Amino acid sequence: MIVLLKENPNAVAVANLKQWLNNEGITVHVSEGERHTILGLVGDTSRLDMSLIQALEIVDDVKRIQEPFKNANRKFHPQDTVIEIGGPGLETARIGGEHFAVIAGPCSVETESQICQVAEAVKKAGATMLRGGAFKPRTSPYAFQGLGAEGIRLLKLAREHTGLPIVTEVMDADQLPLFEDVDVIQVGARNMQNFELLKKLGRMDKPVLLKRGMSATLEELLMSAEYIMAGGNEKVILCERGIRTFETKTRNTLDLSAVPVLKNLSHLPVVVDPSHATGVSKLVAPMSLAATAAGADGLIIEVHNDPERALCDGPQSLRPEAFAELAEKVRGVRAAIRAMA
Ligand code: PEP
Ligand code: MN
Repeated sequence: MIVLLKENPNAVAVANLKQWLNNEGITVHVSEGERHTILGLVGDTSRLDMSLIQALEIVDDVKRIQEPFKNANRKFHPQDTVIEIGGPGLETARIGGEHFAVIAGPCSVETESQICQVAEAVKKAGATMLRGGAFKPRTSPYAFQGLGAEGIRLLKLAREHTGLPIVTEVMDADQLPLFEDVDVIQVGARNMQNFELLKKLGRMDKPVLLKRGMSATLEELLMSAEYIMAGGNEKVILCERGIRTFETKTRNTLDLSAVPVLKNLSHLPVVVDPSHATGVSKLVAPMSLAATAAGADGLIIEVHNDPERALCDGPQSLRPEAFAELAEKVRGVRAAIRAMA
């Protein structure tokens, strides 16, 4: 439920209303706009008498909202959320609002020289964060499963060399102690509705990159973000990575309309993963540019120094030179959009 207050409401009356709502077990999120203040009521509002609130002198309007997600809802939080990533000794990456993030790196961390070479190259090309899987969700149990803890150690080494914050996927809550020093924890498409994992991430103070499940609706994605946010962790980055359709020319179908839809519904930053969405390296550049033009807050792109010999997802990985060319074009699209604004 949302309560829109009149302009310059009586402060005592506002405090009384908040107190009364708190006594009813409702948490009140206050959002101060330029002219109006909005109260976002979180909790079981089903027993609240709307007409009682509507009748108050300070209240302009009361609305029950349709969407079941509240913390992620733009109605409660009109401004874009900006998430700051990094810390002492690291580059600071920001995402959301005016800030665009370019996350790049291999599908999986393979060796020290591989991750360090790719990290140096993507940094030089303008990437703001380094990705790399240490725990890999593979369709076949016989495929390379990732280096695990050693992969995280190597990512940290690459971070030391480049200063780039690191993004890597957790597959199970038991692995979380290994992620204490990771900058952004990725939840993969296959785990989007692992609710116990989401609840645990909600109790951490760490940015989470939440990928859309391959057959998940946007509302389901936002409800998964809500699981994390309901625990107190508001640093959630949404990721569109393609959904499964009847099309076979691409690995998945990139749902680009997800970008404006999500940005309309939510204040959380949205990134696009054109690598998993297409599965074809040639398609990564055009889809990256399209996603940028569609209003994405960032991209997550697979880059490998030797795609033919990659242990995972080589066919969709860009070589560092192709990535550098693409990063330049992405800057061009961003500049063109800014010029139009
Ligand atoms: C990945 O980012 O390497 C990955 C496995 O992605 P997704 O969960 O989107 O398939
Ligand atoms: Mn991959």
